[in-house]
Amino acid sequence: MKLYNTLTRTKEEFAPLEGNTARIYTCGPTVYNYAHIGNLRTYIFMDILRRSLALHGFGLYHVMNITDVGHLVSDADEGEDKIVKAAREQKKSPWEIAEYYTKAFMRDIERLNIGKPEVIARATEHIDDMIDFVKKLVERGRAYETSDGIYYDISKFPEYGMLSGIKLEEQQAGARVEVNPEKRHPADFTVWIKAPKEHIMQWPSPWGMGYPGWHIECSAMGYKYLGEYFDIHTGGVDHIPIHHENEIAQTCGVFGHPAAKFWMHGEFMLVDGGKMSKSLGNVYTLDELAERGYEPLDFRYFCLNAHYRQKLNFTFSGLDSAKKSLANLRGALASHKGGGAKVDTESYIREFYDAVGDDLNIPRALGVLWNMVRSEPKSDDVYNAALKMDKVFGLSLDELPEEKPADDFTPEERAEIEAMVAARAEAKKAKNYAEADRIRAELASRGIVLIDTKEGTIYRRA
Ligand code: AMP
Ligand code: ZN
Repeated sequence: MKLYNTLTRTKEEFAPLEGNTARIYTCGPTVYNYAHIGNLRTYIFMDILRRSLALHGFGLYHVMNITDVGHLVSDADEGEDKIVKAAREQKKSPWEIAEYYTKAFMRDIERLNIGKPEVIARATEHIDDMIDFVKKLVERGRAYETSDGIYYDISKFPEYGMLSGIKLEEQQAGARVEVNPEKRHPADFTVWIKAPKEHIMQWPSPWGMGYPGWHIECSAMGYKYLGEYFDIHTGGVDHIPIHHENEIAQTCGVFGHPAAKFWMHGEFMLVDGGKMSKSLGNVYTLDELAERGYEPLDFRYFCLNAHYRQKLNFTFSGLDSAKKSLANLRGALASHKGGGAKVDTESYIREFYDAVGDDLNIPRALGVLWNMVRSEPKSDDVYNAALKMDKVFGLSLDELPEEKPADDFTPEERAEIEAMVAARAEAKKAKNYAEADRIRAELASRGIVLIDTKEGTIYRRA
């Protein structure tokens, strides 16, 4: 099985460092808000990796952290702590915020058939491990104390930038005017932060009350559960230039080598061709997709259509096609159930295995599945082979297709709904929002939801 390694920029044959078990660390969510569909794409990638390794016969020992403390507004050390900010805005304690959104995240991954890592490690339960790691850095002369924290001394690590290929000098040239005169190098980052009195989340340490930097969380928890050197470290591509470079700097500072052999990164999801952002109103959650009539697995299918190293552009028309394809796939598969013919599925299985083993080429593997279920005659052999493949896709293909497709309208119904949609658009144009809302409500009372997309309004059964 070959996997693409960001560190070496090549596809490499995977073999566990020890025994037959793949030891993996995944950077988990910062729990101050609901996961958006971009975040969830990255965890679907994590899950596909798990399932693909299992298909190829490897055991799994997988650790994912939950960042429930101390992750600032940007990856660099600036801005307010996101969890503290959410707590202030929602008038809750930071612990309540973290607890609430951790549960929401767990529920999301369950609904998406994302396998749970063997260890889920909350940062707040591992503060001592982080303090130990910081101590090691200080003892080895890799970190220094200032009036506001402990900083990693990046000048002691000339190899900094090995993952992204960005040289330290370039970083320095690009850095803004440094505001902290105690820092030795503008790219030095905090591994421990001395907490101001009013800071709610803080713990005792050899350097007084404080809290850990984000990057040290992952180094310390990875080390605790997986040791000095493990097989695979995963995250999103945004982790490459700062978070994972800093993790590598930390582990190299203590152990002399990066924490993992393979570094794998999931590409970003875009929405309507651009970045997701609150101000554009295009940051969707799984619940928001559900409100518009889409099942979590429709979204999973949508994600599986693109390779994890390709950008994926989310549109509602794309999600609509995914929903239809998944229903069709289930329907086609159901038609094989109980089929008495004998079919040799060996060549399909082999092709499927190869696609998955080629750096998780799931779009190609889906193509193999489609070719197989479209084939005649109807056969239980096909049905069983497809369910085997579904151990990787995780699409619950044995569920029966919906009784009534969401867009199963008669021509008369279509004409009527489309006239109402047009009337609503007119009303909106005339700023008659009450009328627009009335039309939407009337359709809703008949079990029809309207979805406003860039390409226009679409409708479906709720
Ligand atoms: P965070 O909770 O902000 O640390 O993000 C959780 C995960 O989502 C990280 O692995 C990020 O790399 C990933 N992520 C953030 N935005 C996107 C996006 N637009 N598309 C795909 N993954 C993303
Ligand atoms: Zn991390």
